[in-house]
Amino acid sequence: MLRRISIFGVTGSIGQSTVDLIKRDLQSFDVVALSGGRNIAQLAQDARDLKAEIAVTAFEEYLPELTAALAGSGIEPAAGSTALLEAADRPTDWVMSAIVGLAGFEPGLRALRHGGTLALANKESLVSAGALLRAEALRYGATILPVDSEHSAIFQALMGEDISAVERVIITASGGAFRDWPLEDLAGASLSQASSHPNWDMGQRITIDSASMFNKAMEVIEAKELFDFSPDQIEVLIHPQSIIHAMVGFNDGGLMAHVGPADMRHAIGFALHWPDRKALPVERLDFARIGQFEFRDPCDQRYPALRLARDVMDSGGLMGAGFTAAKDAALDAFISGRCGFMDMAGIVENVLSMLSRNNEHKMGELTLENIRVTDQLAQKYAADVISAHAP
Ligand code: NAD
Ligand code: MG
Repeated sequence: MLRRISIFGVTGSIGQSTVDLIKRDLQSFDVVALSGGRNIAQLAQDARDLKAEIAVTAFEEYLPELTAALAGSGIEPAAGSTALLEAADRPTDWVMSAIVGLAGFEPGLRALRHGGTLALANKESLVSAGALLRAEALRYGATILPVDSEHSAIFQALMGEDISAVERVIITASGGAFRDWPLEDLAGASLSQASSHPNWDMGQRITIDSASMFNKAMEVIEAKELFDFSPDQIEVLIHPQSIIHAMVGFNDGGLMAHVGPADMRHAIGFALHWPDRKALPVERLDFARIGQFEFRDPCDQRYPALRLARDVMDSGGLMGAGFTAAKDAALDAFISGRCGFMDMAGIVENVLSMLSRNNEHKMGELTLENIRVTDQLAQKYAADVISAHAP
């Protein structure tokens, strides 16, 4: 039987890798909805290639362009956030959630209601509201599969294991663009220097988040939310080769490591074919050529974001939503030249303490509405901190 699938955020880096895999096996899928942002030519091309029912741009002003690009194809064009949610309401068996930021949260949440599989790349929604997503999945009998290399690795290392026998989880990190820079040079790191990753080919934002390890900080919280580990079970280890993506340590002292090429199509393909494994077009590793695996502890001074992740987990409540918003605001400030590379952590730390000063992260239940309020509040605090800081 054909599997009905949708891809939200199809025009992004994860979205395009998903399209690459789907195209190779098109006869197995019935593509329902695709969503994108401003890259209308790509969205329309993908919709035609995958023979989607509907293509949605998140931005209403692009509807005429999308309508023109889809003319004669029989594919329905749509635009705006309501149209996006309506597209997510169309029944599916499998959905890729690959919109970046909190905008990806609600489409993913809605997709869970079909009781199928949610391949979740949008880590912001897990960090902000992991418990809400898990509760919704439980309620509708849906499955959340991680599409982040480390969390896919953990998921795979846990298959067939008793989770109560897990002692610890080690999430690896490449260390990003500046892992070997002298500490004193980091404050002067430029945008272009922060935007190139030693191992992974990703979008600019996540590449900068790798250099600052805000990405890893998000991933620590993501691991806690996805697998219900306690914060002190989760360790971060620098592994410059990015070949081991995560290790799970058990109470008998043994560890299961997941080893694979640095190619997101592995995690995406695993989620696409689960519970089966199917051949994927990724590199086969040559260990003799790789030669050696290196490991080091991440240094707190170089990567202050990791400490902030611990604070967020200790605070609980809505602090994950505040952290996500503050991190994105600080990243915007760095990208637009309003703060330096090492200022980002200070900005986020300030926002977290402003939220906790008034106990705002505990203002209510973890609901969509409260997440939005916290997101707005954290954005406002971040704007205040950034403008006070700007030269
Ligand atoms: P990207 O920036 O390349 O693509 C983002 C997608 O979201 C695009 O399709 C864009 O049009 C869409 N989009 C942007 N703003 C939107 C809005 N307001 N409303 C609706 N759609 C919007 O991002 P990416 O690198 O593909 O990452 C997607 C998600 O996957 C992120 O949450 C990221 O953290 C996560 N992730 C990415 C990687 C990676 O290798 N790129 C790895 C692990 C996890
Ligand atoms: Mg990752």
